[in-house]
Amino acid sequence: MIKKRGTVMCVFCKIANHEIPSKIVYEDDKLLAFLDINPVTKGHTLIIPKKHFDSFSDCDSDLVKDIHEVSKILVKRYQAILNPNGFNLLSNMNAAAGQSVFHVHFHLIPRYDENDGIVLLFNHDESVQYSKGELTQLCQ
Ligand code: AMP
Ligand code: ZN
Repeated sequence: MIKKRGTVMCVFCKIANHEIPSKIVYEDDKLLAFLDINPVTKGHTLIIPKKHFDSFSDCDSDLVKDIHEVSKILVKRYQAILNPNGFNLLSNMNAAAGQSVFHVHFHLIPRYDENDGIVLLFNHDESVQYSKGELTQLCQ
């Protein structure tokens, strides 16, 4: 973290301000998309709002909608250039979910085959149970 005019700027704020270099694939006044510095597959891209929010849960909803639109533009472009078989679009919130940069970002990950470097494994847990109280509160 670097202090500038009394504010703390995170690494993605600095990328959004063009203060550190990145491989930009899309930019407008509110959003930036750039290639991940440590890609899990060819084309692994991060889409961010230029304004800092810690995670998607506090990001303005209209920005999340715009990020979705950018992901569709990039999917079309990457399909034509990289010819993947699919994509993941995902955002991690908090360290427990794998977030390491605390400026909201969506990973757009082209998928090629089952050995392409990303494993999303859902180990369904049959021991998960809800109490009546939890269900009452969850299902409002
Ligand atoms: P997450 O673990 O969901 O917070 O993802 C953070 C991602 O940011 C990782 O995939 C990193 O490789 C990527 N990353 C970190 N620093 C940079 C950077 N300077 N330029 C591009 N990608 C970065
Ligand atoms: Zn930031």
